Amino acid sequence: MLEQQTDIAHIWHPFTQEKMEKVPLRIQYGKGLYLYDDKGNSYKDMISSWWVTLHGHSHPKIAKAIFQQASKLEHVLFAGYTHDPAINIVKRLRVILPDNLRKFFFSDNGSTSVEIALKIGYQYWKNREEERKYFISFEGAHHGDTIGAMSVSGPSLHNSMFKELLFDTKIISYPYTWEGDNEERIEKAERHSLDHLTQFLQKFGSKTVACILEPCIQGSSGMRLCRPEFQRRVIELVKEYNILVIFDEVMTGFGRTGPLFALEHIAIAPDIICLSKGLTGGFLPCALTVTSQEIYDAFWSTSQEKAFLHMHSYVANPLGCSAAIASYSLLLHPKCKKAREEIEKVHRERMPNLVKNLHHLQYPRILGTVAACTIRSDKMLYREVLSEKIQSRALQKGLLLRLLGDTVYFLPPYCITEKELHLAYDVLEEILDNL
Ligand SMILES: *Cc1c(COP(=O)(O)O)cnc(C)c1O
Repeated sequence: MLEQQTDIAHIWHPFTQEKMEKVPLRIQYGKGLYLYDDKGNSYKDMISSWWVTLHGHSHPKIAKAIFQQASKLEHVLFAGYTHDPAINIVKRLRVILPDNLRKFFFSDNGSTSVEIALKIGYQYWKNREEERKYFISFEGAHHGDTIGAMSVSGPSLHNSMFKELLFDTKIISYPYTWEGDNEERIEKAERHSLDHLTQFLQKFGSKTVACILEPCIQGSSGMRLCRPEFQRRVIELVKEYNILVIFDEVMTGFGRTGPLFALEHIAIAPDIICLSKGLTGGFLPCALTVTSQEIYDAFWSTSQEKAFLHMHSYVANPLGCSAAIASYSLLLHPKCKKAREEIEKVHRERMPNLVKNLHHLQYPRILGTVAACTIRSDKMLYREVLSEKIQSRALQKGLLLRLLGDTVYFLPPYCITEKELHLAYDVLEEILDNL
C-alpha cells in the first residue's frame, strides 16, 4: 500500500477525475494475455492495455530485440543521422502498405502522428501556393488530445473544454451501423451525411486542405462501425476537389480489424496514413506519418522555408524501431493471421447472441478482433456508476475491461486462445445479466 500512497500523493493520472477514483491497481508483471497485481491476482487483458498490445504482454522476442538494441545504440539525433532499426522497419512496412505511401515521418504517439499529418497537409498547399485552410472530419471521430488533433475530432468530453482554442473543422455526421441493422435506415443516414458533405464541398471544397477519417471503425466514441462503401463515396467526393485524404489507423493498424490495415476493407489508399499504437506491439512509444511521393515532392526545394520544420526529441528512437521490427515478424507469421481469424470467429459466435439474450443490450458490432455492444440508455441513467460497477465486477472475476460510455467491448491481444475468449464471454454475460 505504501507505493500506492506515493502514487496518490504525487501522480496525476490521465483521463481521470482523481477525486472520484479508487486507489489504482498496482500491476507488477504481465505475461501474454495476463496482468498480475501485487497480491498475485491475475487479469485477462481484454482491451490490450489501451489498444496497444498485439502479441501479449512482455513477449520474449520483442523484449530481447529491445535489450539487444539497447546494448548497441539507444538513441541518436535523426536530422543528419540515421540508423539501421529505422531503415529496417521502413523497409518492412513498405511491403505491407499501399505502394503510393512512400515517405515515412517518425514521431512518438498517435496524437503527434495526426498533428504531423495535419501540418504536412496544410503546408503542402502553402508550398504549392494554393490558399487552403479547412479540414473535414466526422462526428464521433477521435484523433488525439493535442490541440490540432482535438480540432479535427468530433466534440466530446476530451475536447469541449478547449473549444475556443481549436481551429475550424467541418464535422460531418457519421452514419454508424451494426450487425443486423436495417438497410433502409443506414442508407438514409449515409445519404444525409453525403448531402451534408456535398453542400460543404460546393462552397469550400477548393479551400479545404484534407479530410481525416478512421477507416471502418471509430474507436474512442464507442467502437462505431460504418460501411466501407460510405467511406469510399466520401473519398470520391473529396477527391473531386483534390482534397488530401488522411487515414488515422492509429487504432486499426497492424491487424486489429482483421487485415493488416483497415484500409483493405475500403480498398482505397489514402494520401497520408497515421500509425502508432500497435506499431511496437505495445512496448514503446513510436509513431509514423506516411505520405505519398507527391506530397513529399512539394517540400523538395532549395528553400529552407519549404522544408517541414517539425521534430521531437525521441523521433525514430532505435529501441522503438527494434521493437517494431520484432513485432512485425510476429505479425507477419501465418500463425498470427490464423489467431486473428479465430478471435473474429468467436466474436461472431458470441456477441450477437449475448445481445439477443439480454434485452438491455443492443447494437452488436464486430470487425476483426474487435467486438462491442451498447447498454440501452434507460439502464445508463447512472452511466459512471454502472460502468464502474461493470468494471469492478469484471476485475473481481479476472477480466480487465474499460467501458467507453455505454459501450462494452473486447479488443484482446492476438495471443488469446479460443477457450480463453469463450470464458471471457461467459464472465461478461454473467455480469451483464446481473446488473
Ligand atoms: C488513440 C488514438 C489516437 C491518439 O493516440 P495517442 O497515442 O493516445 O496520442 C489517435 N487516433 C486514434 C484513432 C486513436 O485510437
